[in-house]
Amino acid sequence: MQHILPPLPYDPSALEPHIDARTMVLHHDKHHASYVKNLNSALEPFPELHERNAMWLLLNLRSVPRKIRAAVRNNAGGHVNHSLLWRSMSADAGSAPTGPLADAIEHDFGGLQACKDQFAAAGAGLFGSGWVWLARSNQDGRRLQVCTTTGHDNPLMRGRFPILVNDVWEHAYYLKHQNRRPDYLRGWWQVANWEDAVRRFELSDESAARSWEIKDAPVFAPTP
Ligand code: MN
Repeated sequence: MQHILPPLPYDPSALEPHIDARTMVLHHDKHHASYVKNLNSALEPFPELHERNAMWLLLNLRSVPRKIRAAVRNNAGGHVNHSLLWRSMSADAGSAPTGPLADAIEHDFGGLQACKDQFAAAGAGLFGSGWVWLARSNQDGRRLQVCTTTGHDNPLMRGRFPILVNDVWEHAYYLKHQNRRPDYLRGWWQVANWEDAVRRFELSDESAARSWEIKDAPVFAPTP
């Protein structure tokens, strides 16, 4: 089985004007596609890994031959994280979290604005290429935290379940915002998909292990 590029769940222009269509097309059709292609190429000589999904590979790098370990880390990570990213955004996203996620944000950050401020500051402050996340720790009272990862690492590699994610690699914003990453992060809230975050927060109550059994795109669980 080959890893497959999942289709964008909306039209590339759906997130205009906050994320421009040209950026979306390049980001999905070129960048994400190349991670999938490079992952398949790296794995090709290793049939024993062909039934493993991208999340499993990322979390079991010690079981991956040393020769392709870096390629798998970068490209399985790129595949997983971009698959999450497309669903972390929506044209008709709810403007605010609801239910248990809203309660947890209130409890762990003291309010939605404080959570957004920490997220934007962490994303703006990350040196180089990486990702900013709202994630739920599997320790520390299972609190919500803002964290960053570099390259294409995923918070699950450090025991944190991803709830909401944004990409702060330059390719995610450079055409529209050039070097102004904070502007991009500020506008991004207009397309942040809190409905998906609510769904993922519910998932985080279950064993994370169960949710990465699926080989491809619905990396954590299918959208209902
Ligand atoms: Mn990207």
